[in-house]
Amino acid sequence: MKRVGGPVTPFGGRNASPGDNDEYALWDAAYVLGSLSSADRSEYQAHLKTCPSCRQAVAELSCMPAPLSRLDGEDVAAIDEGGPKGGVPPLRPQVLNSLQAKVSHRRRRSRLVLSTVTAATAAVLVIGTFIAMRPSGPIPESRTTAYVDVSCPNNLY
Ligand SMILES: [Zn+2]
Repeated sequence: MKRVGGPVTPFGGRNASPGDNDEYALWDAAYVLGSLSSADRSEYQAHLKTCPSCRQAVAELSCMPAPLSRLDGEDVAAIDEGGPKGGVPPLRPQVLNSLQAKVSHRRRRSRLVLSTVTAATAAVLVIGTFIAMRPSGPIPESRTTAYVDVSCPNNLY
């Protein structure tokens, strides 16, 4: 994203042109989550009227509070306890059931694909074995003639 790592002028600067130099570029999440002070909120709302880039960022982020609001206190506490060590918070039963259904569906599908590939491989091997083991048919006449011509002097003749 263009917003990450871009130069940001200090708050209160007058470089309010849209783009990477937007001083309000990092305010979108705080605004959506309602963590701006009332003065900052008013300032940012005024900026939103003139900046399509920030309006778009707010629109993109505005769907995030709903999923976040589904977390209850225990979920948040579990996330806090897990912290950056990689602990995984326990999943809600609905989410867990949905995940289990998806995983079992994918496993069934991959088993079906694997058995189909195995059957196809077995069929190719069987057909290849038949072709390899098949008698090579009648010897062409010219070869027969050549064999007779070469072997005649060594036999009883
Ligand atoms: Zn902006």
